[in-house]
Amino acid sequence: MDKIVTKDNMAAWLRSLREKYEMIGPVKRPDGAPEFRDIDMMPPGIIPGGIEVALDNAAWLMPPKDYLLPPTETLFTYDEKDQAEPLKVPLAGDKPRLLLGLRACDARAIRVLDHVYLDGAFADPYYAARRKGMVMVGNVCDEARWSCFCTSVGEPVEWLKDLDAVITDIGAGFVVTANTPVGESLLDSSYLSDPSDQQMNLKVAAWDKLAAIPKRPFADKLAKDFLAWDDPIWEKYARKCLGCGICSYLCPSCSCFDIQDERVAGQIERFRCRDTCQTCYFTLMPSHNPRPEKKMRMRQRLSHKFKYQPEQFDIIGCTGCGRCVELCPVNLDIRQALAEVTPNE
Ligand code: SF4
Ligand code: SF4
Repeated sequence: MDKIVTKDNMAAWLRSLREKYEMIGPVKRPDGAPEFRDIDMMPPGIIPGGIEVALDNAAWLMPPKDYLLPPTETLFTYDEKDQAEPLKVPLAGDKPRLLLGLRACDARAIRVLDHVYLDGAFADPYYAARRKGMVMVGNVCDEARWSCFCTSVGEPVEWLKDLDAVITDIGAGFVVTANTPVGESLLDSSYLSDPSDQQMNLKVAAWDKLAAIPKRPFADKLAKDFLAWDDPIWEKYARKCLGCGICSYLCPSCSCFDIQDERVAGQIERFRCRDTCQTCYFTLMPSHNPRPEKKMRMRQRLSHKFKYQPEQFDIIGCTGCGRCVELCPVNLDIRQALAEVTPNE
């Protein structure tokens, strides 16, 4: 189902959705850089008129995974002295959340996270509680950023179909496409109307433009078992890498965490926090460290995304969002590494 909303009515439509949903979206900060924020929590001065979201393809630092997998979260607390006291387990609240402004690559990243946290015998209850109440609304990128390579790792137009609704900017307004019954319920509003044939043609042209982003030369390699264990490029890239972990902290599909206990106000709090395979502590055990060298950790990062996750879940664990390309402090470019790695023939 498709509807059209004029640019004048957009803010009013979004405001009406906030009555039902806790809304998270990319909000432009005073310096112009957008970031995902809880829109209800924003002070009015920062969002003139109550709401102003960035529905373009500007560079957001933090990925939307923060709202499914917070950087740190309490798993449970218990009373150290009173073992009979039941565990206190905080789970997500009942008000459904609407995650707005997802790009195709971000939708794909959530699909990767779903495999990690929901597939198989054990579904992570914390992730599952947040995911269950999450409505996802995305938008179609108008231009590829210099760092993007989504079409090299998959089909972004297909990824958009994982969203409940998709917003396409056609100049004079936005075509909103519902993919699910929940998405259709969002479109049931007096602020939206039926689009004309001409408006639908503009939407199709925008989706075609997304599909036509040129593929990188390495794209053909990805269908093969192409990551050689002893490739000299691991050493080459490891020499440049600082091991800071930014590439995986900010990656929308990276999912690793650490678990620790802390004593807080007489209670023991068990929490998990984001972790990264790019530090030497990640695999450190009392007896030894199976990945003591940076080249091994570099190999692990790419192998996990381009070999192990395809084998385990039939999905590439990288969405080509380009965050790691833009934000690595030493300009280590995953696209270049993929281009240089020697294919296993
Ligand atoms: S962001 Fe760059 S320097 Fe930091 S760990 Fe990743 S590849 Fe290495
Ligand atoms: S481009 Fe980099 S940050 Fe984005 S999904 Fe791939 S590995 Fe993660």
